[in-house]
Amino acid sequence: MCEDLDRWERDGQVSFLGASGPRRFAVTRAEALTLLDHFIEHRLSAFGPHEDAMMSGDPWMAHSLLSAPMNLGLLDPIEVVNRAEDAYRRGSAPIASVEGFTRQVIGWRDFVWHLYWHLPDSYRDMNELEAGEPVPDWFANLEADSVDAACLSHILADVRDNGWAHHIPRLMVLGNYAMQRGWEPAEVTDWFHRAFVDGYDWVMVPNVVGMSQYADGGILATKPYAAGGAYINRMSNYCGDCVYDPRKRVGANACPFTAGYWSFMYRNRERLGANSRMAQPLSGLKRLSDLEELLAQEASRGSAAP
Ligand SMILES: Cc1cc2nc3c(=O)[nH]c(=O)nc-3n(C[C@H](O)[C@H](O)[C@H](O)COP(=O)(O)OP(=O)(O)OC[C@H]3O[C@@H](n4cnc5c(N)ncnc54)[C@H](O)[C@@H]3O)c2cc1C
Ligand code: SF4
Repeated sequence: MCEDLDRWERDGQVSFLGASGPRRFAVTRAEALTLLDHFIEHRLSAFGPHEDAMMSGDPWMAHSLLSAPMNLGLLDPIEVVNRAEDAYRRGSAPIASVEGFTRQVIGWRDFVWHLYWHLPDSYRDMNELEAGEPVPDWFANLEADSVDAACLSHILADVRDNGWAHHIPRLMVLGNYAMQRGWEPAEVTDWFHRAFVDGYDWVMVPNVVGMSQYADGGILATKPYAAGGAYINRMSNYCGDCVYDPRKRVGANACPFTAGYWSFMYRNRERLGANSRMAQPLSGLKRLSDLEELLAQEASRGSAAP
């Protein structure tokens, strides 16, 4: 199979994204069961306290890596959840971790599946925030080394090397940056689809169009998942090694996420104005004495690699 792929690539029939390396994800029933056993035994306990954290050098943390085998039909989601519940009843995993994991599988995975079939096909093309910028090449091609922003650089490298990152890097770093910069949601969806090992239409479309880009105007989420550098600093160890400062919004070391957050709020202030959950973040704009400078700075940064 690998030889076929190499040959097709040489012949120009297909092109691939990212670095090739050892296969890390289960693709047979036997491999999937071994992975499930390993997760239940060794990582489920730590899932709850760490599920939203990000760490350079350890992209996997306590995540299950079960999305690919579940999406391939090698594991039934209910068998996965039953195993987690059983671990709790045996006293080998705490309730917070078992509840958190169950919520991901039944709460999110099933919710997204049903939403996909419930929504009209036109959902994929929604663009309520009228975001029209193209996805830049450095992002599209996973050029981690051309990015100074430590969080983005590490995560693009993880996706390049593994075809995977967990839900917070996807949502709060990659998706957040795309939304802040106003990249076209359908292009962003297409990119996620190509870059991730577990990408399927039914799961990508609601997660990217709805959850990460707020392009559906609030059908899936009650407000945009937009955040500045303070959030990333709280949830990760990336900022310590970064040339930017998460507390700075203007100046040479202004964090592109912090400044990008305010620029996003300003650009969408009228579109989001009727959303009561956005009243407080939008009112923050009035307190920014350096707003004009910030907007000029971010207009000049645009979609260039930060
Ligand atoms: C922008 C964006 C794009 C995403 N694209 C995909 C995708 O193409 N395919 C995919 O399977 N998941 C997708 N997800 C959901 C989630 O990020 C991955 O399922 C998860 O990171 C896979 O790693 P894991 O198996 O170790 O998950 P764990 O953290 O161990 O979670 C357990 C399981 O919960 C399920 N799950 C958790 N969150 C979601 C969610 N939001 N939607 C659906 N299932 C969820 C997955 O089946 C996952 O295997 C996306 C999330 C975001 C924010
Ligand atoms: S300072 Fe900003 S760009 Fe740098 S790692 Fe932190 S959030 Fe990312």
